[in-house]
Amino acid sequence: MREAEFLPEVHKVLEERGEPAYRLKQAYAALATSLARDWDEATNLPKTLREELSEKAPAAVMNLSRVSKASDGTRKYLFHTHDGHAIETVMIPEKDRRTVCISTQVGCAMACKFCATGLMGIKRNLTAREIAEQVFVAARDTAPERISNVVVMGMGEPFLNYDETVKALRVLNDSDGFNLAARHIAVSTSGLIDKIRRFADEPEQFHLAISLHNPFEDERREIMPVAARHSVVEVMEAARYFVDKTNRKLFFEYTLLAGVNDQPNHVEGLAELFDHPLYHLNLLRFNWTDTGFSATSKRGAREFLEYARELGLSATLRPSRGNDIDAACGQLAAKDLRGRPVGTPVSIS
Ligand code: SF4
Repeated sequence: MREAEFLPEVHKVLEERGEPAYRLKQAYAALATSLARDWDEATNLPKTLREELSEKAPAAVMNLSRVSKASDGTRKYLFHTHDGHAIETVMIPEKDRRTVCISTQVGCAMACKFCATGLMGIKRNLTAREIAEQVFVAARDTAPERISNVVVMGMGEPFLNYDETVKALRVLNDSDGFNLAARHIAVSTSGLIDKIRRFADEPEQFHLAISLHNPFEDERREIMPVAARHSVVEVMEAARYFVDKTNRKLFFEYTLLAGVNDQPNHVEGLAELFDHPLYHLNLLRFNWTDTGFSATSKRGAREFLEYARELGLSATLRPSRGNDIDAACGQLAAKDLRGRPVGTPVSIS
């Protein structure tokens, strides 16, 4: 049962009290649908139950320590887990979309050379509850506007925390839970091929993005140590399995790094790999982090995009967002863990 798996501590309290089964559904709806952060807000539950839950199984499992707001409206949430770890979440508003980028691990073991999170190493996996709560908090902050998209592209490699990540996504997708369509939820992996296949076999229509960042084997290994485990050929075989199995568009993330992966031969290398009409190239200009890399110029990025399209690739160049609060992929939490202030702190209820 989804509710009991997602809320084991709540389930235990209810069982010990001999509460009827529908109480668990009510508690689940209070968190996942009504976005309660305190059981006192769940007025559909009896007062004595609310008091006992508050003591034994609090409604919020993480402290929201800070909300920073960028000049373009992007918001970054800094959370602290019960065991003192810092994690971050970003909400990016666009014309008709509000996208939340969530984390699945504290730090990351994949050690991509251009990524500030990768420099931290891995501390631990987040639980499904901690993963989903990031979305609940962003949704509460954004209300009455609804969150339209969730992307699992924050701290961590989600496929190294596969079960808890998918459990959280199911709660986000659940019509009795957060009720967000699966096609509005996307997971990004650095290319763990077994998990790409497993994800393709899941019944929900979640989207997938694969971080490619270089079409050439030796060059990719230099910036992504994971590449030593799975070759580009193996990643592309898993990609083909995904599109054949799901018939869904598959996104390839490509962060443009000046002088590293932004030359015409890289476009040509990509064109050779992209042999399926459902493959889409997502280009992103590198956001500065203290990793020794620098961003391709705006003009260089546009030229890369144009050449890719000329060679027949379906491709887009994503605008960078939230630069003044270090909200880009690969920048999350690293600064906060070093104790440096970011952005303009604002508080939400
Ligand atoms: S880019 Fe993603 S997979 Fe690579 S180290 Fe950073 S968080 Fe991990």
